[in-house]
Amino acid sequence: VVVVTREIRRDPTTGEEVVLSSERTLERRPPSPPDDPQSCPFCPGQERFTRPTIAAVERAGAWVARAFANRRPVLVVEEALSSRDGLLQSTSGVGAHEVIVEAPEHVPLHHLPVERTVDALTLATLRMQDLRRDMRLQTLSWFRNHGVGAGASQAHPHAQVVGLPVVPRRVAAFRDRCAAHRARTGRPLMQELREVEARAGRLVLEQGPVMAFCPFAPRHPFEVWLVPDGAGPHLADATPAQLEATARAMHAVLGALERGVGPTPLTALAFGAPAQEAGEGIGWHIRLAPRLLVGAGLEEATGLAVHSVFPEEAAEVLRSALSVKTR
Ligand SMILES: [Zn+2]
Repeated sequence: VVVVTREIRRDPTTGEEVVLSSERTLERRPPSPPDDPQSCPFCPGQERFTRPTIAAVERAGAWVARAFANRRPVLVVEEALSSRDGLLQSTSGVGAHEVIVEAPEHVPLHHLPVERTVDALTLATLRMQDLRRDMRLQTLSWFRNHGVGAGASQAHPHAQVVGLPVVPRRVAAFRDRCAAHRARTGRPLMQELREVEARAGRLVLEQGPVMAFCPFAPRHPFEVWLVPDGAGPHLADATPAQLEATARAMHAVLGALERGVGPTPLTALAFGAPAQEAGEGIGWHIRLAPRLLVGAGLEEATGLAVHSVFPEEAAEVLRSALSVKTR
């Protein structure tokens, strides 16, 4: 019997959290994405291979985007919320982990009509609005991986929504910088950044209320930020006009990346306020991060590392390796 354990632990020296989820041991080696629609669990007709649909967008009587619980969640809602304080702090692995299949077609999202991207983003915000009602979920993270190098385990276009019982350091840092900027200048940081970037020579395109630009200090080569005018604190607060413009901008930039840089593994992620906070002065936006280093979307979105080896397990493995050697 395999007992699945999940815990979020905080490194006492840096304050950085790590998600330990033994479920991920099933993925010690990343599977190569089956690029065969016949064996793809996300293609229409294969719905029985995934968890049941939680919500969907339908067009002409068939789904064009659908959401369901991840088959191997890093965190689960059924867990009881508990935490340990002191030098070694931890929180139980309570959370949410959903998959959003973004199109019925088994091809990259930006190769499809832009309406698919609009519907996919709309479904993501609906799921986040719903999950936000669970007050235990302090952070809601949306991200999508494209390509093996970005950690995608399925070639079919899909996104993920993860709810966390903590506010990771990177999310807190964004919130705190927005608050500090507002206290100093009276203005939202992301609004001012839009104005500065509009004349800084890093603009990629403007799509209605959304500005796409390469950020001043990118973490990744060819990183692009999609920043809507007057954005609320969280992607779940996006207006239909902001969502549509963001989808159009994302579609266009992904096409431009492919033409200009070549096929690039990429993580798209939403940045915003913690889920249960008013988030005044914080503006949500989407970041497109080409992944030339190995990693997963959750790391990029929240700063959390996700891996499968509990230190207890590691120590045991090392101890038995030593005892075999000294025998
Ligand atoms: Zn498929």
